[in-house]
Amino acid sequence: MKRALFPGSFDPITLGHYDIIKRAISLFDEVIVAIGINSDKKYMFSLEQRLEFIKEAFKDEPKVKIETYKGLTVHFCQEIDVKFILRGLRNPADFEFEKAIAHTNRDLAAIETVFLLTAASTSYISSSIVRDVIRHHGDYTKLVPASVRV
Ligand code: ADP
Repeated sequence: MKRALFPGSFDPITLGHYDIIKRAISLFDEVIVAIGINSDKKYMFSLEQRLEFIKEAFKDEPKVKIETYKGLTVHFCQEIDVKFILRGLRNPADFEFEKAIAHTNRDLAAIETVFLLTAASTSYISSSIVRDVIRHHGDYTKLVPASVRV
């Protein structure tokens, strides 16, 4: 069974993440969306809220599982016996950043990273833009799955 881990903060999940997960479902038997917990980071949404947004968005999709983890992503992959990490690419900056992490992860644990190019329609969306729109009372509903409500 081919399983992929999609790690991230998902603060909150956006239509960009949603698109990557949906497309990965046709490539893998199981896609595990994994919220990384970093105690040094300040989040807009609590872990429970972020989990609930993702759960609700994929409630009719049995191939999508949701987990949380602390520490290195590759250690979590080893713990749950996952061989692939899934990441989305929006632009050259994403590529440069992701390239170093992917090389490191392959060195550390022989785990391959599979990249999906963002859909053109969601390429500009990031969680940080969504948080800005929410903070300033803009219409964030165009940028996130319907499950994300403030
Ligand atoms: P992180 O804190 O690891 O950056 P994010 O939740 O921001 O976590 O993103 C998780 C993954 O989703 C990353 O691979 C990121 O490149 C990807 N991603 C984020 N936004 C988009 C988008 N609009 N289109 C495609 N991939 C995206």
